[in-house]
Amino acid sequence: MSADSSAKSSLHFNRVVLKLSGESLADAGGRGISAHEAGEIARQIKQAHDTGCQIAIVIGGGNILRGAQFSGSNALVHEATAHYMGMLATTINSLAMQDALESHGLQTRVMSAIPTEKIAETFIRRRAIRHLEKGRIVILAAGIGNPFVTTDTAAAQRALELEADVVLKATRVDGVYSDDPEKNPHAVLYDTLTYTQVIEKKLRVMDATAIALCSEHSKPILVFNFKRDGNIVRAISGDMVGTWIGEPKK
Ligand code: UDP
Repeated sequence: MSADSSAKSSLHFNRVVLKLSGESLADAGGRGISAHEAGEIARQIKQAHDTGCQIAIVIGGGNILRGAQFSGSNALVHEATAHYMGMLATTINSLAMQDALESHGLQTRVMSAIPTEKIAETFIRRRAIRHLEKGRIVILAAGIGNPFVTTDTAAAQRALELEADVVLKATRVDGVYSDDPEKNPHAVLYDTLTYTQVIEKKLRVMDATAIALCSEHSKPILVFNFKRDGNIVRAISGDMVGTWIGEPKK
């Protein structure tokens, strides 16, 4: 565990990309979308937005479908097709989150990497930035619009192009552990990690492409537990929460 806990202090982020898994919208261990879970997340995002932070959200689709489920030569659909199906699952979740956020009085735009003009704007970087500057929450649907990657990569990619300060990776555990904390009671929670440590220790934080992108461009990642009430606003405020991954701060 790193001793450099000062890395997370005195930060307040102006613009963030919040990565939510599709499963965060479902009841624990369940599938689909739970109105209660979506409403709880929306309530926490409203708190965070009230601090003045610009928020873009990337939502996964794992509560509905992941393309990798269809890998293998016996699969009914080609794996690439399945990944597009997964991207559409993220769009379903994005639309649900849009209405959940708007029920809290927030202004939102869904911007999709796959043109679906009846339900979402197509993602245009400069337009997304304009929405953020106007205080709208931008929900980024359909990942990056290409198969064989996950929405972790989309979160990293969009954080770079939208010049977000950090990728906030929301999970159901308190951060990054040395082992699966649900199986190993001796697993250690890391306070801070470098990208190299994440790669060398083979820690399951985000997919490898996402880590590589963030590492190459020194984009920090904060992994935190969104199930603890108030943690999204704490993460945005730079409070000590979760595991910070980035260059060691001076
Ligand atoms: N996906 C894709 N390209 C992208 C983003 C997502 O092909 O840019 C597909 C991929 O099959 C992925 C699925 O959409 O498994 C759902 O996203 P993800 O697995 O990231 O969802 P999460 O695990 O975050 O719920």
